[in-house]
This record gives sequence, C-alpha cells and structure tokens, in this order.
Amino acid sequence: MSVYEVVAVRYATRRAWKSGLYHRFESYGEPDTEASLDYYFWLVRDGPKAILIDTGFDPDVGERRGRTLLCEPREAMRRAGLSIENVAQVIITHFHYDHVGNIDAFPNAELLVPQRELDFWTSPPAGRAQFAEHVEPAEIARLEAACGSGRGRALSGEETIAPGLTAITVGGHSPGQLVLLVETARGLVVLASDAVHFYEELELDRPFAIIADLADMYRGYDLLRELQRDRQAIVVPGHDPGVMARFPSLGGAEEGIGVRVA
Ligand SMILES: [Zn+2]
Repeated sequence: MSVYEVVAVRYATRRAWKSGLYHRFESYGEPDTEASLDYYFWLVRDGPKAILIDTGFDPDVGERRGRTLLCEPREAMRRAGLSIENVAQVIITHFHYDHVGNIDAFPNAELLVPQRELDFWTSPPAGRAQFAEHVEPAEIARLEAACGSGRGRALSGEETIAPGLTAITVGGHSPGQLVLLVETARGLVVLASDAVHFYEELELDRPFAIIADLADMYRGYDLLRELQRDRQAIVVPGHDPGVMARFPSLGGAEEGIGVRVA
C-alpha cells in the first residue's frame, strides 16, 4: 500500500462573527465573538506523483467576495513545492467557489468529482438564492464540460481512488461533499474539507452555518469521530486557522504557506 505525504496549504483568510459561522448560534446562549476562517487546499504526494485536493478560489472571484488573499493559489502551489505538470489527479471535494477555481491550470490532470455534486449543481434548486450564493456558474459549467469530455470521472458512495486513498461522499454542507481518507506514515489522515470547517464542530457538535442537509452533516461528524476513536485518525478540517498551529510548518521560505500534516 502507498504511504502518502499530506500537506495543507493556506492561501486566504477572512474575519467573521461566530453568529455567521455556526447554524443557529444564538441557540447556544453564548456571547458572539469574532473568529478567523482560513482557506486551504491540500496536496497528497506519493513520490513524484501528486494529487491535488481542491484548487482554491479564483483570485478575481475572491476579491469580488471580499476575501483576503494571502498568496495566489497557483503561486502557493509552487511555493509548496508542487509543479503543476506533476499533478496527475485533481480531486474536487464539492463545488463551492473556494474549492473549484483555477481548474484551467491543470488541463492534463484527471478530474475526480462527486457525482452528487454534478447532479445537484446542474439541477433547478441549485439556482435558488441560498444555494447559488456559494458557487460561480462559469465554474460549474467548466466542471460539467470537463466531465462530459471524458477528462473527468464522477465518484459515488465510498470509492478507492488508489491503494491507501479513499473518497467517501458524506453530503451535509453541500449535497455531495466528500471526505478523503489517506494512509500516511503517521497513520490515517482524514481530509475533511468542508464536512468540518472548524475543529469546534466536532468537539462541541455544532453544525456550520451553510447546510444542504443537517442530518447528513451530523452523520458526517459521527463518521469522523468513529475514525478518530477506532483508527486514531488525524482529522484535518477545511477552514480552521488551528491547522497551521497543529502541524509543523513547511520549512524555509515557505514559512506560513502551509504545514506538513504527515
Ligand atoms: Zn470551503
């Protein structure tokens, strides 16, 4: 079985109120406080072969939405040691704008996307305000075209992508939200992406504010806790600033760009 290296790269950030980050925050009876939400993508490496998990937001889209770019995603990839030509596969965890920009930078990579995301984001409810706010129509069209052209492949249920690398569709935050299970020298790493934005969601059982299906979101939390308990899995949430503190920084000039999870 392959033993992968896993790197988390932080490319952007924003400040927000907890009342805007958690579903029905007022129900907890706590004072509202400010928090940071960071933006990441992830690299999974097996020797020279690299798999990119999500592609960050398009810098113009991020600017329009008022996000603070720390480093353009393509530059951040380079600084984290990724040469774009070596990316064999790009796995998209869900179709929200901050996970699917910059796809054009990888014309030769195989694109793996959740089938339920493809189905949902090309269906009528996706055009309603509470869903549409989180995606860019041009990016959805690009993903759809890539899959139609044979460059993309859709993932359903639980699928082994390569030995030691498994994708599970959990839904919740977005209808086809994926989590990735990666075997590493440190044991099992779970790249939760936005199945869990913040560690607090798991620790306090507090759903994030943006929800497609609340029951699925809770089931996703249960699955991750099970993996923590039964397999001592290292869970990496999708937007928590704490990720940068919990793992060793990429050395040298890359200080601050990312961390080596395993
Ligand atoms: Zn996100």
